[in-house]
Amino acid sequence: MKNLKVIIFLVSLSMSTNIFATTVEGIEIPLSFDESTKYISPEFNLPYLVLTREKISFPSKTKLGKRQKMKFQKALDIMEIVINSEEFKRLVISYQRKIGTNPSGDPIYERSFSKNYLWNNSKARLTNEEIYNIIMLGNEKMRPNTHGEINFNSYVKICSRYQLMVRNINWCNGTIGSTKPSSSKMIKLNWKFYKKYETHEMLANMVHEWVHLLGFLHGESNIHQEVPYVVGAIVKKLAKNISENKIAKNSY
Ligand SMILES: [Zn+2]
Repeated sequence: MKNLKVIIFLVSLSMSTNIFATTVEGIEIPLSFDESTKYISPEFNLPYLVLTREKISFPSKTKLGKRQKMKFQKALDIMEIVINSEEFKRLVISYQRKIGTNPSGDPIYERSFSKNYLWNNSKARLTNEEIYNIIMLGNEKMRPNTHGEINFNSYVKICSRYQLMVRNINWCNGTIGSTKPSSSKMIKLNWKFYKKYETHEMLANMVHEWVHLLGFLHGESNIHQEVPYVVGAIVKKLAKNISENKIAKNSY
C-alpha cells in the first residue's frame, strides 16, 4: 500500500513535470485557418489600435539585460504593426479549431475559438469577428474608457536562486507571464524566460497576457484553442515575417 502511494506520487509528479516542461519550452499551438472565410466588410474598418506605453520596466543593469531589453522594446514596436495588419485580422477571423474526426479519420474543424466569451459569461458566445472587434477596441477592464489603445503596463520579476530551486510547479519555474485581469492592469513577466527569449517569443507572450486584460481567460477543455494562446501564436507567426526594415522605421 505504501509502495502504491509512492508510485502514484511519482506518476503524478512526472505528469505534472511534463505539463510544466511544455510550458517552459513553449507550447506548440496548432493553427488552422478556413481559407474560404469572407472577412472583409465595412464593420471591420476599425480605427488603428495605438500602443500606449504606460508603466513598463525591464531589467537592464547587466549586459544580458541590456541585450534582452532591446528585444523587448522591439517586441513593443512590432506589436502595434502586427495587431493592426490585414493579416492579423484575416487570421483571427478565419481561425478554425479541430472539434473531432469523421469516420474516415479526417479532422473536423469549426471556425470558432474555445472559451469564446468574456469573463464567465458563457451564455454570450462570441464569433471570431466579434472577438477580433473586442481586441481592436482595446478596452482593458482595469484601464477603462481607453478605446483604441493597448494600454501596456508590465514589469519583469527576477526569481531568486532559492525560488528557482523549488522543483514543484510554482510561478518562478513554470509561468512565463501572468495577470490579474479583474483587479490589475499590470502584466508580470518572468525573467527566467525573458532572459533567453527572442523578440517574437516575447511578443507572443506579451499579447497573450494583454488579451487576458480584455477578459479572455482560460478554463475550458482545450487551452490551446483559447483566445490568449491562439492570438499569441498568430502574433508570433506574423512577427517572424516582419522585416527588420519595417521595424527600424518604427523604432525610437
Ligand atoms: Zn494565459
